Amino acid sequence: MQPEIKRLIELQAVDSELTRLRARLIAFPQQLAEIDKRLAEGKQHLAASKESLTASLKDRKKYEMDVDAWKEKAKKYREQSFTVKTNEAYKALQHEIEHAEKEVAQAEDRLLARMVDGEQFDRDVKSSEHDLKELERAAGADRQKLQAEQAALQNELEAKQAQRGPLAAAIPEALLATYERVAARHHGIGAAAVLNQACSLCGLRVVPHVFQLLRRDGSSEIFQCETCSRILYYVEPPPAEAAAAGAPATSPDTTTAADATTQDG
Ligand SMILES: [Zn+2]
Repeated sequence: MQPEIKRLIELQAVDSELTRLRARLIAFPQQLAEIDKRLAEGKQHLAASKESLTASLKDRKKYEMDVDAWKEKAKKYREQSFTVKTNEAYKALQHEIEHAEKEVAQAEDRLLARMVDGEQFDRDVKSSEHDLKELERAAGADRQKLQAEQAALQNELEAKQAQRGPLAAAIPEALLATYERVAARHHGIGAAAVLNQACSLCGLRVVPHVFQLLRRDGSSEIFQCETCSRILYYVEPPPAEAAAAGAPATSPDTTTAADATTQDG
């Protein structure tokens, strides 16, 4: 194999790693944002519970005042009823007293209902506080784990990037430009091995003449796949695979070769 093609394959391996690392790194901001979102929801839930409790306490105060006010009125009418001179005035006051007592009873009912609600709101606030604490603990741990992973991947990325520079510099400019142009169109893969006399990535058959030249040591020509434009290179099949081609199917070597092929694919 030509040395520049060998370097190109090494470069492609580094580029594939870079693509993989970048794809993983791109996911982190979203994952971190999701943690923040969960926390914000927990906080919002607690705030809503507290608001309900406050509103319920406010209502309770108001109903307590209603009870007191109507009791006061009833008391006042009762006192007045001892001093009135006419039957009519007495009757009117009795009517007012009845009305005030009805209002007292209704206000007391409302107050009681509010007190029962208030207990529930109180429990809600406590459970929301507990949930938020749990959420904060989990979010802290998740964030720490993600940030550690992110930093490790970032380091790996920087190391690979540093590795890429000298590799790329050792490849002839024109070949590198072709590779990069093709790679940009094919998800970062600009070179393809020839397997079974065909481009391993698009499957196009390589014409025999080109195949011979690709196999020949010391050939300096560069060939691109006619369909996908990838720079073609030939690799000798591993010995097991070569042997398997001519060996009976029951040979243990065949199994190994088949397994290796499956893993490669
Ligand atoms: Zn191809």
